Amino acid sequence: MAMNHVTTLECTLCGATYDPDQVIYTCPEHEGVKGILEVNYDYDSIQDNFDAPLDGDIRSQWKYSAFLPVDDDADIISLKEGGTDHYNAPQLSERLGVETRVKDDGRNPTGVLKDRATSVAVTKARHAGRDVITCASTGNAAASLAGYAARAGMDCRIFVPGNAPEEKLAQPLVYGADVLGVNGSYDEAYDLSLEVTESYGWYNRNAAINPFQVEGKRTVGHELAEQTQDDVPDWLVFSMGDGCTIYGGWKGFREFYDLGYVDDTPKMLGVQAEGASAIHDAFHRHESASDVAETIADSIAVGRPRNTVKACRALEESGGTSVLVSDEEILDAERILGSTEGIYAEPAGAAPVAGVRAALADGIIEEDETVLVVVTGYGLKDTKSAMKAGDEVQHIDADLLEVERLYHDELIRHSD
Ligand SMILES: *Cc1c(COP(=O)(O)O)cnc(C)c1O
Ligand SMILES: [Zn+2]
Repeated sequence: MAMNHVTTLECTLCGATYDPDQVIYTCPEHEGVKGILEVNYDYDSIQDNFDAPLDGDIRSQWKYSAFLPVDDDADIISLKEGGTDHYNAPQLSERLGVETRVKDDGRNPTGVLKDRATSVAVTKARHAGRDVITCASTGNAAASLAGYAARAGMDCRIFVPGNAPEEKLAQPLVYGADVLGVNGSYDEAYDLSLEVTESYGWYNRNAAINPFQVEGKRTVGHELAEQTQDDVPDWLVFSMGDGCTIYGGWKGFREFYDLGYVDDTPKMLGVQAEGASAIHDAFHRHESASDVAETIADSIAVGRPRNTVKACRALEESGGTSVLVSDEEILDAERILGSTEGIYAEPAGAAPVAGVRAALADGIIEEDETVLVVVTGYGLKDTKSAMKAGDEVQHIDADLLEVERLYHDELIRHSD
């Protein structure tokens, strides 16, 4: 087994370092799971093994395998994650009043950016000879893990809050996972999954506490650096739940900058919902009102984010900041994204578009800057919310006169 390019796991709180081959999740020096670990690399060794041309041709995230914390001889468990397209978005730009591009990571195998991390986690678990893998999830991580566990021939047990959208429960069930709907919040499901991991020794994919989790998400940053080499956006916008995604995106982009593959870095804009604002509050040093999380964007409905330290680090190091948006603004954004560019996002995936509007209104983003929003999840994940975002169906009889009536009353759009 060789993972020579990973040097240490380093505690983000006290700086203690650990051997990457030890199965530890968090630094034992701190209460609970607060001692989140950072993965450090030997970049000379990575560069010795990375010679792919940065020509924008990205079949999957494994183009950057030299950067991923996986043994050389591990069988990669893949469904073709990453390599998602990034688009110019002229109609959206016009609507928002700022030049905007979109990277659509909802087009991953299970419909979510998390597939990047899951592919790495399941590859590692399988290679370590584990046969049971678990996680707690607001829904998407569960579906993602269940899909990849099936692909790997592993058993999967997941903990979700009982009120997760039905589509998000259907998906892991079809993938054959044991789905445990916990009567309680995501935070309670999370705590239970940790206890179970300790008691039964299942491999835990939980974002944030599994130090290797975030590492797979770096590939979205690698791809963005490669895709925007000639025209790095001023702002890169992500929604934030636990905070792993934005940190992964930043760490990946920054690595490519540090290695000289791209000559600029974007400012990171983190977007949270008004009803689940813990990272935003921490970054701006506000008292957090409560750890209750209430928002229609269930994927970012996190009351006690596990990765606040790393998320704030991304905002700070990049010279960025965070904003809050309301549920209504999120639903508007879902519709705007769909109707201007044909990109269908779940609420948490559309939240960055709402965040751009808020940041423009606050003078955080200037009109002559450029923006790139990352859509993290696909719209079919949550059709109930989508039905609230769009217009209503107009039911009519099968009669041409009915269409005539609608047209006359301007209830359907006249094209001119
Ligand atoms: C998980 C998730 C997020 C947030 O990622 P964190 O790492 O929890 O901050 C955003 N959007 C979607 C669609 C997600 O599934
Ligand atoms: Zn520590």
